[in-house]
Amino acid sequence: MKKYFCILVVLLHFTFSSSAAWSKNRVNLVEDEKSPFVEEETTLMGTEIVVLIALNSEQEKDEARGAIVAAFDEIRRIENLMTDWREDSPLQEINRAAGIKPVVIDDEILFVLREARKVSEMTDGAFDVTYAPLGKLWGNFVTPKNTIADDRAIQKVLPLVNYKNLELDFKKNTAFLKKTGMRVGLGGIAKGYAVDKAAMILEKKGYRNFVIKAGGDMVVRGKRNGKLWWIGIKHPRNRDQNMAILPVSNVSISTSGDYERFYMIDGKRYPHIISPKTGYPVDGCESVTILAKNTYLTDGLSTGVFVLGPIAGKKFIEGNQSIQGMIIDSKGHLWVSKGLETK
Ligand code: ADP
Ligand code: MG
Repeated sequence: MKKYFCILVVLLHFTFSSSAAWSKNRVNLVEDEKSPFVEEETTLMGTEIVVLIALNSEQEKDEARGAIVAAFDEIRRIENLMTDWREDSPLQEINRAAGIKPVVIDDEILFVLREARKVSEMTDGAFDVTYAPLGKLWGNFVTPKNTIADDRAIQKVLPLVNYKNLELDFKKNTAFLKKTGMRVGLGGIAKGYAVDKAAMILEKKGYRNFVIKAGGDMVVRGKRNGKLWWIGIKHPRNRDQNMAILPVSNVSISTSGDYERFYMIDGKRYPHIISPKTGYPVDGCESVTILAKNTYLTDGLSTGVFVLGPIAGKKFIEGNQSIQGMIIDSKGHLWVSKGLETK
């Protein structure tokens, strides 16, 4: 077991004690100390971003606030590069040229596509960086729907979803989608990457003790007042309670859940994570949390394990020494990987 995984304290139905900035969140900070810190919140990448830096003294506050602004700017820069919510982003050039020609792309997009393709391989296509035509067909879970997507349309789109048809050329810096109508989408991994980059900004400025969170993705660095950070994982069906508390340091944590973006149609829940095999939203898990050393990895893998479902998901986590995780299945049962068990 790697050192950065700390002991899990599973406190079922632990009531929140954190501030309003955190209480809305899938992964959240449970405050125990009143040591000096600065905390700022904003909305980027379609989600709430929170940065908290622990300080040695009250005097450092102004400078730390400046560092948080720089971290937000970095997340905004990545959003502008990698969004597929706007037609004119650099990522979309690849989608526009699908089935036509390879396009020269920015180094960072190439890096994230390569890592996303690795996550696709690792999860045997449960996470698929080319899932986007399906997302579009399901309306990207933006506004409520009364009917599910048309099955004939789903069957037509399914052959377009296959990460093996994304060609990356690292010598020419190009990306190519082999079939017309294919699309890449980084909605399941870009927030994690943005969090990692924001952490680098704070580290470059000399900060060692902080947390950065974008939606369900979080990086935890150093300590607070010499103690581990206590990270809460939201109860998927009881929104003002945590299901578990993780005392951690120097680790990334992501949670994918079925309780924030979903459709309710005829009494059935359709979460925003879609199986690339069936073309339908997956329903085996209520919540999946992954811990590992990079946030882009935990982001991608939490989405991928969500698709795998509780049984294959557990096997996947147990088969990878460098990751830990917890799964809450659709019956509400909690499973925790060995490295996180209470000692
Ligand atoms: P969030 O983006 O809300 O933090 P997740 O990290 O769990 O949630 O990722 C869900 C997002 O991933 C979806 O909104 C969609 O953009 C994308 N996605 C959905 N299904 C897949 C899939 N099978 N493979 C890759 N990405 C997916
Ligand atoms: Mg994810």
